[in-house]
Amino acid sequence: MKIISINAGSSSLKFSLFDMRNESVIASGVFERIGIEGGKYSIKYNGEKLQCEVNLDTHTDAVEILLDKLVELRIIRSLNEIDGVGHRLVHGKDKYKESVVITDEVIHDLDNFREFAPLHNPANILGIEAFRKVLPSVKMVGVFDTAFHQTMNEEAYMYPVPYSWYSDYGVRKYGFHGTSHRYITEVMKGILGKDNFRLISCHIGNGGSITAIKDGKCVDTTMGFTPLSGIMMGTRSGDIDPSIIPYVMEKEGKNASEVVDDLNKKSGLLGMSSYSNDMRDILEECEKQNERCLLAKVKYVRRVVDYIAQYYVLLGGVDAICFTAGVGENSAPFRREVCEKLACLGIKIDLDLNNKRGEVTKISTDDSLISVYVVPTDEELMIARDTLRLIGG
Ligand code: AMP
Repeated sequence: MKIISINAGSSSLKFSLFDMRNESVIASGVFERIGIEGGKYSIKYNGEKLQCEVNLDTHTDAVEILLDKLVELRIIRSLNEIDGVGHRLVHGKDKYKESVVITDEVIHDLDNFREFAPLHNPANILGIEAFRKVLPSVKMVGVFDTAFHQTMNEEAYMYPVPYSWYSDYGVRKYGFHGTSHRYITEVMKGILGKDNFRLISCHIGNGGSITAIKDGKCVDTTMGFTPLSGIMMGTRSGDIDPSIIPYVMEKEGKNASEVVDDLNKKSGLLGMSSYSNDMRDILEECEKQNERCLLAKVKYVRRVVDYIAQYYVLLGGVDAICFTAGVGENSAPFRREVCEKLACLGIKIDLDLNNKRGEVTKISTDDSLISVYVVPTDEELMIARDTLRLIGG
């Protein structure tokens, strides 16, 4: 059984081809600059990496090349070996509470919901249409970023704003990174050997969100109506006082979407440090006592600690905290600082274990009141698993 996981962006298409007999990745890669001059792609397979520059006018061009190359490089013998295609879809609003087989209705809904994810939903449709054209008889499954969070109750997902904003325009918390948080939940089910536990999943990458999970279900999450809210991120501000927006609009002669763009792309670690959105760079500069980088790091850590503390209370105690994604998986200093600030909850970590990388690791000590884990996330595998399940494999 071979399944392709696809993550289509407006000018890119990432893929992973899985052999689902042992859930191994047979090939993976990315097509970039689709529809822009200077198109290129890379395919990793069998310990090798093929890199090519080629004009990619449309997503269909990318998919055609991808499938040709899979056969040409003998990664698969023929296209018949591909049993299903799973697509990462960003916004399913409150209609899609789980993954689905892609039908015309799903595509229509993605289009209808596009004002909720103006960059992502149209790109997701391009990815789906491209595979429909090139592999018309292969079943496809959509895995929504928002789906895992649809178990939140009203108290969690409603904003304290005029009710008509919700009823007329759909203003509510939707949450994102759901596939990653669901993957972490599945891994923790296996580790803890039970279904009923309280978990705080910290997906800390360039984008970041923290989710409170009870008995396998999301009860609250930090991202909201859009991915801009919650913790401070690489380039996103996270929560701020919304009155800042009209104030800066006036000061800088910008319109609302330009200021929101600044909050998405020029804020967070990058904005506070004026140096970098990458935690590696920030930590390096902290060693040199760069004050702005020190401030950015302290604020970043504090936002994470604030939400873990909030969710600890919401869940009435916690069995495990998990760190995942770029910063969460790779940055031992970040995890150490977060955990040190949570010492009052009885959290203790082993500094040697905290330095391990690349595998699921329990980094808390035996006498820590809460278990702390590093769990490498795998959204592509989650998409492939859902695809296999839904196509009846
Ligand atoms: P992601 O969005 O999950 O791919 O995460 C990307 C981010 O992870 C980068 O912007 C870095 O800030 C961070 N990152 C990756 N490796 C490390 C590392 N070794 N130490 C600190 N941060 C890292």
